Amino acid sequence: MKAMNLILIGPPGSGKGTQAELLREKNGFVHYSTGEVFRDHIRRKTATGVKVEGYVTSGKLVPDDVVLEVVNAFLAENVGKPILFDGFPRTIPQAEGLDKVLGANSLKVDLAVLVDLADDEVVKRLTARRQCRSCSKIFNLTFKPPKKDGVCDDCGGELYQRKDDTESVIRDRLNTYHQQTEPVLDYYSAQDKLQRIEGAMGRDRVYEEILRLTGAVSS
Ligand code: ADP
Ligand code: ZN
Repeated sequence: MKAMNLILIGPPGSGKGTQAELLREKNGFVHYSTGEVFRDHIRRKTATGVKVEGYVTSGKLVPDDVVLEVVNAFLAENVGKPILFDGFPRTIPQAEGLDKVLGANSLKVDLAVLVDLADDEVVKRLTARRQCRSCSKIFNLTFKPPKKDGVCDDCGGELYQRKDDTESVIRDRLNTYHQQTEPVLDYYSAQDKLQRIEGAMGRDRVYEEILRLTGAVSS
């Protein structure tokens, strides 16, 4: 995969994280998930973790300056590699901040893919979502149950439900998405960089479609 910068956008639960993992394993992308980075900081109780915990557990957006701080630290090490941004940018200032750093390195966002999903389907998926405490692998009690209850198939770690995967917090995350992240779609659409994929098509077809789109990008 050439050194492209790819963004996956979509409502929570649309399957972005799953696609990002596939693209990392099979296509050599560096997978950068701001949500995972924040959850890791919270686990390790770092200064950033303490700052962001209240936002993350209640499903509110972390302030842009904190987000850009962790992203800039990541980019300082990784800019120029094929990068897949998952869950970032979520606001216009974040999108502008990303353009600024990439621009300073003569790079740009090559493609933004919206993995779309209707709100009711999001709620159905997320309330059934479980994640491994050790390796972060994601399971779904409905579509992809673990072989053994509560145990990760890959590493034997303990499966847990994220605090923000309860119905009321999911509704708040959806509102935040519609209000603050949908404008980011217009931002990329105005630059002719946005492509939409229907997340309900299922994992394999969504993956094929993303590959087709990345292959179609010329840089
Ligand atoms: P999902 O896409 O399923 O909502 P994420 O793992 O991407 O989950 O994000 C979890 C939480 O982390 C968000 O609800 C928010 O509090 C915080 N977060 C992650 N990325 C960002 C971002 N780019 N800007 C602000 N907050 C973020
Ligand atoms: Zn695991």
